[in-house]
Amino acid sequence: MAVGVLALQGSFNEHMAALRRLGVTGVEVRKPSQLESIEALIIPGGESTTMAKLANYHNLFPALRNFVNSGKPVWGTCAGLIFLANKATGQKLGGQELIGGLDCTVHRNFFGSQVQSFETELAVPKLAEQEGGSDRCRGVFIRAPAILKAGPDVEVLADYTIPLDKLGTVASDSEAKAITESLGKVIVAVRQRNILGTAFHPELTSDIRCRHSYFLKMRKASDETNLLCLDLSNQNSYYHIGRRPSDLPIFE
Ligand code: GLN
Repeated sequence: MAVGVLALQGSFNEHMAALRRLGVTGVEVRKPSQLESIEALIIPGGESTTMAKLANYHNLFPALRNFVNSGKPVWGTCAGLIFLANKATGQKLGGQELIGGLDCTVHRNFFGSQVQSFETELAVPKLAEQEGGSDRCRGVFIRAPAILKAGPDVEVLADYTIPLDKLGTVASDSEAKAITESLGKVIVAVRQRNILGTAFHPELTSDIRCRHSYFLKMRKASDETNLLCLDLSNQNSYYHIGRRPSDLPIFE
């Protein structure tokens, strides 16, 4: 099984390293033809406007949309999640092209600028119910987006309650404000058939092997037995024993 990683910009190396550790063939995708030979695709975090410009330059949009529509597993992390959304808000003037497919409204940079990046522990009860293991998971949010709205076919895997001290720095346009004021929380992980989206960066945490393993188990949308893609079994032990994992590259 060959897994493609969109390698235009952003954290594609980290995903390639994770696949290598699993003994899975990773393919850096930069041309439309490379999508023909892969079984699943990861769209990494980075900067979605830049990624869109580069995807246009390489004429990748039609092939990427075909891939998403084919039912093969696609996982977008952070900028990748924005790229897969049907609608993005908080965009730069003039907007940006999206692949689409995920029936969600995603707000770019919802949590603010780079300095507002953070790590947190997320409750993920649905995943734990289906996959067993801990019902908590660690999320690394880097200039992160948030999902403001999700359609009826979208399964919410994790949301995030906005703490009082963050209320002053999250997006405050009218749509974002309506959500934060009425619900006080935003969605940060979803699945819609073959598409997985996470606003955070699982590839930067110590449980990456399991998460990628589960993503690789996703099947075509028609397969009723397909598995969830994030594993929760052993990701949080450091919370309980008071140790940080040794592999954190950021905020140390
Ligand atoms: N906010 C960024 C964007 O708009 C995404 C950040 C990330 O991928 N870490 O593309």
